[in-house]
Amino acid sequence: MPVNIEQYKLIQNSLSQKNVQLIAVSKTKPNEDIIELYELGQRDFGENYVQELVDKAASLAGDIRWHFIGHLQTNKVKFIAPFVYLIHGVDSEKLLVEINKQGQKNNRVIPCLLQVHIATEETKFGFDAISLLELIQSGRLLNYPNVIIKGLMGMASFSEDQTLLSKEFTQLNELFQKSKSILNYNDFDTLSMGMSSDYELAIEKGSNMVRIGSLLFGARNYTKS
Ligand SMILES: *Cc1c(COP(=O)(O)O)cnc(C)c1O
Repeated sequence: MPVNIEQYKLIQNSLSQKNVQLIAVSKTKPNEDIIELYELGQRDFGENYVQELVDKAASLAGDIRWHFIGHLQTNKVKFIAPFVYLIHGVDSEKLLVEINKQGQKNNRVIPCLLQVHIATEETKFGFDAISLLELIQSGRLLNYPNVIIKGLMGMASFSEDQTLLSKEFTQLNELFQKSKSILNYNDFDTLSMGMSSDYELAIEKGSNMVRIGSLLFGARNYTKS
């Protein structure tokens, strides 16, 4: 399926007016598709699988900002630590410990978002509100000098119920504002929420970073990847 260039231009145009950052989610899609958007100026791309990300990063332009948006296993952090631009799915302190360690090894501070579980499905990863606030209030983030927590990320329920989605996004935005006031540093400025099906609502509810895949690249075919 070809990249939807017109759709990209429309979305990019409307997002930039709202100061919302677009992450083009290119998981399972070939390098040629990424290059098409790169040539239009897109630099932020999101991937879910470590090996796929490593392969793409090695063969594509060095100024692409690679976002890891999938579930990250601790034993795989080392593969992306040298170059990843932002890790969206930090869902445990154990993972923070490992990212910090790999940041040290690579002599860099790795930008991360803490993932919050806002959906009704149990299959989605993330901190619940209570353990998130506990971590943020504890001061323990200071134990990880090679990690900078830039904000929060969440995925709403797989549902078309706008009232439910609205409630979930609002809840995440409230947690974001609360965390921001507790942490009180300027770099805590990113709220990553919204995908192809719900990004407009997410922006209405305070998102400033959306992760859009199928609207730009077409439906994914997982069996081929
Ligand atoms: C795949 C994925 C997306 C993009 O989903 P689309 O519905 O194709 O826009 C966004 N966020 C995460 C975490 C994903 O895994």
